[in-house]
Amino acid sequence: MDSGMIGKIQKAKQYAQERNRFHIDTLKVNINGENNTHTAKLEDGKWQCDCDYFKGHSICTHTMALEELLKGMLVLAE
Ligand SMILES: [Zn+2]
Repeated sequence: MDSGMIGKIQKAKQYAQERNRFHIDTLKVNINGENNTHTAKLEDGKWQCDCDYFKGHSICTHTMALEELLKGMLVLAE
């Protein structure tokens, strides 16, 4: 491996520790729930999820779990 690549890997590891560098505004995630798999999306800073609970509440276990996972990296519209 050339020294340039080694430097890139080190920098990538450093960046991965610095969550505030990342600003996620679009995302699609399949989540394996206890009964079904659900698909949650982030588009233009707004969540969508195909589960029933989300339809009535605009928030659900899946979007809340993603917010917890991606804390500090999401660009959410309010
Ligand atoms: Zn959901």
